[in-house]
Amino acid sequence: MIGRRNRVKYRFIVGATLAVILALTLTNNDLGTFAQNKRSDNGSLKSHPRAGLSPEAREMVDLASAAICKERMTDPKGSVPIDDMQARPSQPVGSPEAVAGAQRAQRLLPIAKSLVVAALRRLANDYRFHNSRGYDFRIRRAIARVEAVSTIQPDVDSRDNASVILKSPHTIIFGTIFLSGLPSDEGIISVLAHELVHIGDGNEDSLRLLFQAVGNRATQLTGIKISGQKAEELTCDLVGTLAARAYVANTPSYEPLQRRISRALEHNCVAQDDGDDDHLSPRSTIRALLSLNPTLSRELVYGR
Ligand SMILES: [Zn+2]
Repeated sequence: MIGRRNRVKYRFIVGATLAVILALTLTNNDLGTFAQNKRSDNGSLKSHPRAGLSPEAREMVDLASAAICKERMTDPKGSVPIDDMQARPSQPVGSPEAVAGAQRAQRLLPIAKSLVVAALRRLANDYRFHNSRGYDFRIRRAIARVEAVSTIQPDVDSRDNASVILKSPHTIIFGTIFLSGLPSDEGIISVLAHELVHIGDGNEDSLRLLFQAVGNRATQLTGIKISGQKAEELTCDLVGTLAARAYVANTPSYEPLQRRISRALEHNCVAQDDGDDDHLSPRSTIRALLSLNPTLSRELVYGR
């Protein structure tokens, strides 16, 4: 999820002055296309009635969505919403919060990788790809790429985004504002998982069929057309929530379940809910993910 595409920054920023100019003149939404091998993230589209959900399921999604953003308000480790992050000044790589975030991300990377592999296998099963001809090969290639990722690269200019460059498939670039804005393991795992799915897809579009299937299902449930890059981004977020949920299950603590699960999604609790060509809006993302995962919605509402 994480993040809207603002790839122009990466391509053209050569110095601090230009970085400031770009930061002032470019928003995450208004940038054109370029290099096909760069993926960067943060958020958004307008929501429409959720056509495919029953009234009860829709109410559960609404309650769970509200629970996530309410939980964020009182959680000392709550994530900062991405529109709030966007408004913050750039943060040096050496700032204590960014250092702590980078260390957490590097420490959690091996765990995130194994959780992503498990989530991809589960989704392949759920969406009935596990025996499809050719799909096993593609998912094996995707898993190999995920397992080869080794490095978190903190980056000032990436600000509130995480991204991957497919030419450097062993590295996840993490903006320092983003690292600081996600002070929980669950928040970091959800973002790492998101980026790992992009890497798994790679230049070969190995996961394209899965993205289409998730997008089609989400379209049915939400009434929002979700295809192409939006389907990929939503699937990345779906894997992020599954990975974070599995992490919570594997690392018991005294913290309430709702609080821990919410951390995987609450960076989407924006005041300004803007979309772009590649991402659903952050709040639509939350609703789409909850529509796809009713168990998660119930856990968020009832705490079990
Ligand atoms: Zn993405």
